[in-house]
Amino acid sequence: MKRQPKEFFDQSRIPGDLCPIATEPMDVKTGDWRAERPVVDRERCVKCATCWLFCPTQCVLEKPAWFEADLEICKGCGICASECPHHAITMVEEVEE
Ligand code: SF4
Ligand code: SF4
Repeated sequence: MKRQPKEFFDQSRIPGDLCPIATEPMDVKTGDWRAERPVVDRERCVKCATCWLFCPTQCVLEKPAWFEADLEICKGCGICASECPHHAITMVEEVEE
């Protein structure tokens, strides 16, 4: 996976009474450090939306006949695979490009 260049952080944008660490906007997407990705078996998916409901990053997208993760945001936690009642999601190890 490619790392995105980190831009210089302009602290003047942070109000004085807020913690700069907690309020610094992240330019690294969660999908950049994922170790595994969810792969949906489209034949098994019945569009029940359980994965959409449980995904902590709300990155599951509805497609014409199945659901799948937005891989820019998906952090690879595997909750969708654990919760899918039709065992349609498999977590697959990411490989370096
Ligand atoms: S939980 Fe499983 S069956 Fe339900 S929409 Fe998601 S992938 Fe499809
Ligand atoms: S692996 Fe985690 S973050 Fe990615 S789609 Fe599944 S529940 Fe969401």
